[in-house]
Amino acid sequence: MDNKVYFVGAGPGDPELITVKGAKLLSQAQVVIYAGSLVNPALLDLCLPGTEIHNSAGMNLEEITGVMIEAYRAGKRVVRLHTGDPSLYGAIQEQIDILEQQEIPYAAVPGVSSFLAAAAALPRELTLPGVSQTVILTRMEGRTPVPERESIRSLAAHRSTMCIFLSVHMLDKLTAELITGGYPANTPAAVVEKASWPDERSFTGTLADIAAKAEGSGVNRTAMIIVGDALGAGYRPSYLYDADFAHGFRGEQD
Ligand code: SAH
Repeated sequence: MDNKVYFVGAGPGDPELITVKGAKLLSQAQVVIYAGSLVNPALLDLCLPGTEIHNSAGMNLEEITGVMIEAYRAGKRVVRLHTGDPSLYGAIQEQIDILEQQEIPYAAVPGVSSFLAAAAALPRELTLPGVSQTVILTRMEGRTPVPERESIRSLAAHRSTMCIFLSVHMLDKLTAELITGGYPANTPAAVVEKASWPDERSFTGTLADIAAKAEGSGVNRTAMIIVGDALGAGYRPSYLYDADFAHGFRGEQD
């Protein structure tokens, strides 16, 4: 392990879904700061005895970067563990910018994002030929603003597959916006709560009934919403495994 601060993706919950590289870094770290609200603490079992462990849930940005900077300067190996993949809603940029200012080297190790774990829970292909070849990752505006040009309503006009983070507590409003924006009310929709955790639950329905189904079952915690016709039947099989088309190209597209 080089002496850098590593931002590591912990994956969606199942401790086996961290990457080999992430697990190795964790097993060599001397200081670990993990995002306690969502990272599975079982991952910390990978750490050596005596590793200094901080839960960032109760820390502010200065405290988090303060721990990193001090540990780095003391020559210690530092891992900052984020849920899923650190590049999505991880607030890593503000940490990186402070490390930059302090001239501290850093690197990121990707993780399995929760939208992928949710797709696996169903399991469904999100990019069905002739149905949607695009996946939009987004969230609905809440306390955190979203640029107007990325409103749910405007993104809905594409009727692509959409994976919506951080929004399950606004499911009614979200589905209404999706329908207003252009998805027919009978568009398939799914809510996957705690994907890859032992208490994972998934609900499937349409934009018209998914909010009632999920809310009726008490879903109000960590959950991913996936919407789009790719979750339903009816598509043209991929060219990828088509005997006539794929000759000589097999594998290149996937
Ligand atoms: N960086 C993370 C996302 C952090 S934002 C990633 O790549 O997954 C937190 C949001 O992610 C939650 O509100 C929820 O929408 C989603 N999420 C995180 N873990 C999840 C899980 N195990 N199952 C379903 N959704 C999850």
